[in-house]
Amino acid sequence: MTKTIRKAVVIGSGIMGSGIAAQLANAGISCLLLDVVPQQLTADEERKGLTLEDTAVRNRLAAAAIGKLGKTKPAPLYDPAFAARITPGNIEDHLSLIGEADWVIEVVVENLAVKQQLLAKIEQVWKPGIIVSSNTSGISINEMSAGCSEAFRTHFLGTHFFNPPRYMKLLEIIPGEKTDPAIVAQMKEIGEKVLGKGVVLAKDTPNFIANRIGTYGLLVTLREMTASGLTVSEVDAITGPAMGRPKSATFRTLDLVGLDTFVHVAANVYEQAASEQERSVFETPALLQTMVEKGWLGEKTGQGFYQKR
Ligand code: NAD
Repeated sequence: MTKTIRKAVVIGSGIMGSGIAAQLANAGISCLLLDVVPQQLTADEERKGLTLEDTAVRNRLAAAAIGKLGKTKPAPLYDPAFAARITPGNIEDHLSLIGEADWVIEVVVENLAVKQQLLAKIEQVWKPGIIVSSNTSGISINEMSAGCSEAFRTHFLGTHFFNPPRYMKLLEIIPGEKTDPAIVAQMKEIGEKVLGKGVVLAKDTPNFIANRIGTYGLLVTLREMTASGLTVSEVDAITGPAMGRPKSATFRTLDLVGLDTFVHVAANVYEQAASEQERSVFETPALLQTMVEKGWLGEKTGQGFYQKR
């Protein structure tokens, strides 16, 4: 029987966390969306006389992400009213609520240490029966949970959604070495029956399946563009609709993913490269590094390979 998911907690309200929360809301699940507590007031908050202790400020990041759902394209919600099923919060004030969830999804930055610290926090309030999953693009599920208890690890696995979650049918499920097979089976049923995904079980290898291949393709294309003196739009014209990929031309995809995230994801393989040849492919190209340093992160900052209009 499919495990009933009534309440979910999504931690990390960026591109993927907000999109996953929207997909859960579309499926009728109430969702607490958490992010970190801001360290600085915005000019608007200062004008209103707010302080860093005010709830509106402390919950600002997740609240802003929910606010954007109505304006994001492609639309992440079937019905804008479903946004009411998502409640914003911050991880410090709402940690105990994790213990009331059926499913907790970690969707924070692609960084092993950050994810390990967060799992330790989640474990403080976790109870048996609560499924905990990570949306990592390719960090080892075993390594991430190595510091957690055996009991927690039986309930922990990777659930890798693709961007944008509402439109991308694929869900990679990555069991860890300790994950209970019954939890894997439950997650597969939830993915297929509740969220309408096509589920692929992947091994816990760097970048799993899709990103191992996808990152490779994007990096090789970027290097070919530079070597051949082609422009971004020329490459996108060829690698988009002309090749039967209506929405996924190379550099539009990179802008959608986020260049900072892409650099982290390529590094997952680079750091564990099995050969010099693999190392040379997955090394971050200088162009990408420069763009990230300039804050040209793609759609989320308004400037990437393309400028958002
Ligand atoms: P993002 O940069 O858009 O958002 C990350 C969010 O996490 C930010 O809002 C940040 O404030 C928050 N955060 C950071 N540390 C936190 C903590 N300790 N507690 C709570 N919140 C915290 O990143 P994203 O693109 O949404 O990626 C998130 C995860 O999903 C990464 O592991 C990434 O590899 C994976 N992923 C990304 C894509 C994509 O296309 N961008 C696709 C699939 C998987």
